[in-house]
Amino acid sequence: VKERTEELLHEANSSILFVANRPQIVMEHGEGMYVWDTEGKKYLDFIGGWAVTALGHSPKVIADALVQQAGKLINVSPAFYNKPMIEFAQLLTGLSGLERVFFGSTGAEANESAIKLARKYGSVCKGGAYEVITANRSFHGRTLAMMAATGKPQWEQKFTPQMPGFVKVPFNDIEAVRSAITPKTCAVMLELIQGEGGVHEVSLDYVKELRSLCDEQGVLLIFDEIQTGLGRTGRMFAFEHYGVTPDVLTLAKGIGGGFPLSAMLAKEAFNLFEPGDQGGTYTGQPLGMAVGLAVVGELIERKLPAQAAKQGAYLQTKLREVQAKYGLSGIRGKGLLLAFDLPEPRGEELVAACLEAGLLINSSSPQTIRLMPALVVTDEEIDRMMSILCAVMDQL
Ligand code: PLP
Repeated sequence: VKERTEELLHEANSSILFVANRPQIVMEHGEGMYVWDTEGKKYLDFIGGWAVTALGHSPKVIADALVQQAGKLINVSPAFYNKPMIEFAQLLTGLSGLERVFFGSTGAEANESAIKLARKYGSVCKGGAYEVITANRSFHGRTLAMMAATGKPQWEQKFTPQMPGFVKVPFNDIEAVRSAITPKTCAVMLELIQGEGGVHEVSLDYVKELRSLCDEQGVLLIFDEIQTGLGRTGRMFAFEHYGVTPDVLTLAKGIGGGFPLSAMLAKEAFNLFEPGDQGGTYTGQPLGMAVGLAVVGELIERKLPAQAAKQGAYLQTKLREVQAKYGLSGIRGKGLLLAFDLPEPRGEELVAACLEAGLLINSSSPQTIRLMPALVVTDEEIDRMMSILCAVMDQL
């Protein structure tokens, strides 16, 4: 087994384009909250595929939906409607209150669709307005346009020339948005809880004032709920915590429970694309739609958003119990999108030591640890995670 793993790693290290410092292990299978590598080592997963595996690893509902749909219709030209596409559109529009949906495969693609729709709105309804305001420290994806939308100063000089038309403002600062809006502004795009940025939440007043400001100025309000959507924060959509509805909403990650699937939803008034403006070979393709239906159906049936709220509260309590002992601070987040800060910038070391001990966690910055387990995580699994984490911190 060891030789085979070494061989696989040699092949991986010599054929896969380098984009990340991946640990020298090869993952092989998963079940519930656990994954196993090719040497049979078991890991408790609190990364959850980066907030993706909402139902845990390889749940039967997804496998069944894939097999059933694959036996019926795997693909048909996006020029046609298909049955699961219509059913899934009905489900998502009903849940979100937004009347129109466009399906994609990745989060970045959903955000690209949102920006295109905002620019279409700007050109048709707002005299050619095209600028989009986004927040510092935001994350919206890695396509060329989404790198320009993302609030990471270190990306500004990469892959230049950068796509123009994005204006960055400080996060959670309404006056900054007010003064950035000009006649050229067509939209504001925002994560209600910045995920990659380290789990930072907007305030209730800010969201309410932003909604009024956008209405006053005729500017679209786009919520990027790629990380926060589909139950992750304890409600089906994070915007429900604030009582404010966006004009455009983007979803991905949890929506397919691990299958590449995304959606951009918009109010009826912004149903503005003309034939050819937006599309893609895989938009609304039946396999993805069947998986989405199964995943979201399960979230509703098992009341998983409420479960995420409950388990998130339990996890926060457990973290607070050991906070003083390990010098942890800033325990924060909603539902099962949580983070805390370490006393020193040793996040990478902690992540590596946890991996060794059989626990997967993420360090979103050198000092910050982020936890985003599946929404089905149990008390026992949280207790187990805490005992591994504490044992590792004892040694560090
Ligand atoms: N937007 C947010 C808030 C995200 O967290 C991410 C991914 O981490 C994306 C967009 C990009 O999604 P994807 O990696 O599926 O393109």
